[in-house]
Amino acid sequence: MEKIYDVIIIGAGPSGLTAGLYAARDRMSTLVLEKEKPGGQIATTDEVANYPGSIENATGPDLVARMVEQCKEFGAEIEKDTIQEVNLEDKIKVLTGDKGTYKAKSVIVATGATPRKLGAPGEVELTGKGVSYCATCDADFFSDFEVFCIGGGDSAVEEAIHLSKFARKVTIVHRREELKAAKSIQEKAFKNEKIDFIWNTQVKEIKGDGMVESIVFENLNTGEVTEHEADEEDGTFGIFIFVGYIPETDLFKGKMELSKAGYIITNDNMHTDIPGVFAAGDVREKTLRQVATAVGDGAVAAIQAEKYIEHAFEE
Ligand code: NAP
Repeated sequence: MEKIYDVIIIGAGPSGLTAGLYAARDRMSTLVLEKEKPGGQIATTDEVANYPGSIENATGPDLVARMVEQCKEFGAEIEKDTIQEVNLEDKIKVLTGDKGTYKAKSVIVATGATPRKLGAPGEVELTGKGVSYCATCDADFFSDFEVFCIGGGDSAVEEAIHLSKFARKVTIVHRREELKAAKSIQEKAFKNEKIDFIWNTQVKEIKGDGMVESIVFENLNTGEVTEHEADEEDGTFGIFIFVGYIPETDLFKGKMELSKAGYIITNDNMHTDIPGVFAAGDVREKTLRQVATAVGDGAVAAIQAEKYIEHAFEE
């Protein structure tokens, strides 16, 4: 007979891995499904400086590796598969992936969010050819080159600081005249001699034949359009885009209550509007998306799933 798990967790970022740890420790049969590598966004974050205990240059990948190990140690299974279809209404939930069908008494959605695109012409074509959404992954390619960082939030400014360790010059391009990032992060960037700023400006186009060769800016106050071309000797430069995230909730549209921006709405105990289905981490509608809040969500969701099963599957 096909196995029916107590809980299946979709997504192996910090919230999913914490849910896995708590569920497995409570002796629930637990499966964590992840379509890529475990870790979610912190797998591509150089420094997780604001997660308690994460000090002395601890990197995102280090933290993820420890979370995965701990989760498995308690008996959670972690599998790679992409879920394409969910049937969550019945008492036994059915998830259909590329590799198989999975059944569970409860489901925790911890699918997170993915980087938002600018939507500028050339962006998609030149992704991986100078355009990047991950400084940790690609900073090295731009050692001694020039790079632009698009955005004004925590990600753009933190990653600009990281990129300044590699690039010879980093320019933050923001569509407003002040940053949105936390003041402490802003202060670091303003003090960094390698970091420059272009304000009130958006990216109109990214150009290049096989690799980034120029970027076209538009000043939103004056309408002036300017084009920055690669240094002749370099031939190219980097464009790192950090303009926010989009929740991974396509699977749940029309099946679960979502916010206007597409995040899953839960109560304080991570319950969605479907009995036995919980959500945790960045995919939830909430005010602060951090590793610290994601792990809290994951722990609550696992304990609530256990309580739900005890009640709903009472003999
Ligand atoms: P964010 O806070 O949503 O900021 C996105 C930035 O991109 C904003 O400055 C926004 O400008 C700009 N933007 C959005 N769409 C744009 C477009 N089409 N063209 C140009 N600019 C655009 O996103 P985030 O920085 O990725 O942060 C996401 C969450 O993760 C936040 O809660 C953040 O605090 C958290 N985070 C925390 C840390 C940390 O504490 N260490 C590090 C990274 C991320 P407007 O202001 O004009 O909308």
